[in-house]
Amino acid sequence: MNTINKLTEIFSKFPGIGPRQSKRFVYFLLTRNNGSLEELSKLILELKKEVTVCESCQRFFPKTSQSKICDVCTDKNRENGMLMVVERDADFENIEKSGAFGGKYFILGGKVPILEKNPEQKIRVTELKERVQDKNLKEIVLALSVSPDGENTEKYVRELLSPIVEKKKIKISTLGRGLSTGIELEYPDSETLKNAFKNRT
Ligand SMILES: [Zn+2]
Repeated sequence: MNTINKLTEIFSKFPGIGPRQSKRFVYFLLTRNNGSLEELSKLILELKKEVTVCESCQRFFPKTSQSKICDVCTDKNRENGMLMVVERDADFENIEKSGAFGGKYFILGGKVPILEKNPEQKIRVTELKERVQDKNLKEIVLALSVSPDGENTEKYVRELLSPIVEKKKIKISTLGRGLSTGIELEYPDSETLKNAFKNRT
């Protein structure tokens, strides 16, 4: 396979990018000068060196100190009793930007598709079970995408956590409807997210 095809295949695996768009990326790169291509490859190589995964919420954050826990998880002004579970880092970023939520987060790392045979390989099951052992926890808010796979993920997570939440009397809620169907939580505007949080059930 030549370089054009190899790169096209790599870009087509990016979220939301189809084969046609990925080929456009490759031809775009071919129009750039060597300096900007070198900078791009350097940044890609640095990405993993400079970013780490928070041991508590599992989100990516820049390694600024020796801490293995991110600034959101260590923030003392945040409510320890509330934990919002989201699918991906982009969802976290959008909800955080909206100011709708002042508790802590957990990033599942994906969703569980309907009929999935190995759900534990699709989301961070072990880390989530560990996280909800927190003695301060009073409520878990499931903020998952409004789609059949999102609903399936919700069902799976509820079942997964039910022994723990029943024992520890933790409430599990879901964001109120009003979010458009098929949408990932990366997209709704701040007002919509605030209302969805207020109307959680
Ligand atoms: Zn964190």
